[in-house]
Amino acid sequence: MEQTMHSEHTLREDPRYLSRLHLEKLGVTRLNRYDVLLQCMTCGAAWAPKLRPDATLPAGYWQCPNRCNW
Ligand SMILES: [Zn+2]
Repeated sequence: MEQTMHSEHTLREDPRYLSRLHLEKLGVTRLNRYDVLLQCMTCGAAWAPKLRPDATLPAGYWQCPNRCNW
């Protein structure tokens, strides 16, 4: 389900409800809708953040491995 509201607030970083706008502000884009595969918009590196046991995203999931957006 695509998130269309322009809310800045996500109570939990649930990968199912990540908004594209939110990710773009962090400097990343999402390659895959169902799995969480992120790509850095600066250097093009892609990575898949490891989900926590409750299926939410870990802190810093959006950080490029090359530190472009740290
Ligand atoms: Zn990068």
